[in-house]
Amino acid sequence: MIRPLAAALVAASLVFPAVAQTPPAAVREITKIKDEVYRFRNNNHYSVFAVTSAGIIATDPINAPAATWLKEEMKKRWPDKPIKFVVYSHDHSDHISGGEVWTDTATVVAHENARDPIIGEKRPTPPPQVTFSEKATIELGGTVAELNWVGRNHSNNSVVLRFPREKVIFAVDFIPVKGVAFRDFPDSYLDEWIDSLRKVEAMEFEILAPGHGRLGTKADVTNFRLYLEDLRAQVLAAARAGKSLEETKKSVDLSKYKDWGGFEQMSQLNIEGVYRLVQGTRRPNQ
Ligand SMILES: [Zn+2]
Repeated sequence: MIRPLAAALVAASLVFPAVAQTPPAAVREITKIKDEVYRFRNNNHYSVFAVTSAGIIATDPINAPAATWLKEEMKKRWPDKPIKFVVYSHDHSDHISGGEVWTDTATVVAHENARDPIIGEKRPTPPPQVTFSEKATIELGGTVAELNWVGRNHSNNSVVLRFPREKVIFAVDFIPVKGVAFRDFPDSYLDEWIDSLRKVEAMEFEILAPGHGRLGTKADVTNFRLYLEDLRAQVLAAARAGKSLEETKKSVDLSKYKDWGGFEQMSQLNIEGVYRLVQGTRRPNQ
C-alpha cells in the first residue's frame, strides 16, 4: 500500500580470438544488512531490498543484466515472494536502468522530480508509476519503508529510503562513506546539499547503505557534511580574495581527508566544481 503523506573461457583463446575482448564477469552478490534488509552488489554499484511476508520491496535495479540476475536469485531464495515495489534512488541511469525486468510484478515509485529527466533524457528504464513530493510510506507484509525527500543535493530527486525497524537508510551518490565527492559536482546543488545532510543527520538510523562503497553510520553523514562545509568555506574565501581557479587549487588545503576514498582522483575536481558553484552564487559588489 502506498500512502502519499507527504570462465570457462580459458580453452577458447586459440580457437576464438574474440574471447580476449570478452568483458570480465560482473561481481554480483547479496549480503544481509539486518533482519529483512539485504544489500545487492553489481560491481561498484549497490542497492538494498527488504524481504517481507507479502513480497519484496526493492530499490535500484542498476541495469538490466543485474536486475535479471537479482530476480533469479530472489526466486531461488524466496520463491513465493515477488518484487512488489521498486524505489528509484534518483534519476541517474547508472543506478536505475533495467527497471522493466521487475515491472511484471512491481510498482515503480520515485520522487516527483525524477519523472521529467527519466522521460526527457530517455533513461533506459520505466518511468515511475507513483511519485511523492516530501514523504511517503510503503507498507507491505507488516514492513514499513519510509521514503523521504530531503531537498536538492546530488540531484533534485534523491530519495532517502528508511527502514525504521532495522534502522537502516539507503541514500545514493550524495553521502559517500569515508570518501570525497564525485568529480566536479555535476548536477549538484551545494548549499542545499549541506542542508539535506543535516536533515539526514536528524533521522533515526544506525546503518547507512550507500550506492557505492562500504556501509556507514550517522557519523559518516556528519563527516561528509563537515567536508563539504570546509571545502565550500575555503573555496569561497579564495574566490572572494580574487584568486583564480589555479591559485585556488593551490591554496585550498584538504590534506586532512587524504585517506578518504577517491582523494587522489577527485579532490582537485571537487575544488574545481565548488569554485564554479560558488562563483555562480556570489553577490555582485553593488
Ligand atoms: Zn547519481
